[in-house]
Amino acid sequence: MEELCWINASVTRLADATVSVDDRGYVFADGVYEVFRVYAGKTFAVEAHLRRLARSCEGIELSLQYSLEEIDKAVHDLVRQSELESGIVYLQATRGVAPRGHAFPLNTPATLMIYTRSMSFTHCARQRVISVPDERWKRCWIKAIALLPNVLAKNLAVKANADEAILVDDGLVQEGSTSNVFIVERDTLITPPIGPKVLPGVTRELLLPLAQSIGMKVEERPIPIAEALAADEAFLTSTTREVAWIGQWDTRTFGEACGEWTRRLSDAFRPTPG
Ligand code: PMP
Repeated sequence: MEELCWINASVTRLADATVSVDDRGYVFADGVYEVFRVYAGKTFAVEAHLRRLARSCEGIELSLQYSLEEIDKAVHDLVRQSELESGIVYLQATRGVAPRGHAFPLNTPATLMIYTRSMSFTHCARQRVISVPDERWKRCWIKAIALLPNVLAKNLAVKANADEAILVDDGLVQEGSTSNVFIVERDTLITPPIGPKVLPGVTRELLLPLAQSIGMKVEERPIPIAEALAADEAFLTSTTREVAWIGQWDTRTFGEACGEWTRRLSDAFRPTPG
């Protein structure tokens, strides 16, 4: 296996890949990204990730010089060429290389960068989480590379010996710094709706119909933090975590083992390459 990097159609070893210091991703965090999971040599949920990439690009008025079909092929070819079995594909699109200036540069091609990275993952991990104030902007449905508030929130969690920070805005649970949040009350799965403070997670999108298929009711609605802390079960989802149960949230302990519904959802989320 060799980790490789594709930048505007040139492929190098990941360790040798470089971009200009004038790239607007570096200077302004002027770009968007995606993380795909690779299972058994196959990239998972490619279509859903590319759909979200297109929405994120629209959200920041970024035109890519490659079609989604071309990007799909580039991702597929890079995974094959890397001989990657388990890991991720990271894709980042920025507004290209131009002398520093806030205005969008004219006639500057976007930089599209894709790399493969080998990784192993824990299935159905226990998570300790803490609530932190949500200090992000109001366009969190865009998967923007400008992640400083998320980075700072995550590090509050790390300092508190926790795995994830749950962002709470005006008393309402929004999402984790790198994950979507769900609670279970009896046989009902509840998650905050996609919107200004909630990313449309691909794992979330795949999980909601699965919940219905195993007999759960599903509600997408705001969740007051007090309600979350009184729930029967709670869990996080993300591409790298899949479904990860919350064992401790602030001072609330949810028990020593993964809850029954969370276990069933985790089992139902059987990634099939596509
Ligand atoms: N919210 C945020 C802020 C995230 O960074 C992520 C991980 N990319 C998610 C939710 C989960 O999204 P996905 O299931 O597509 O990985």
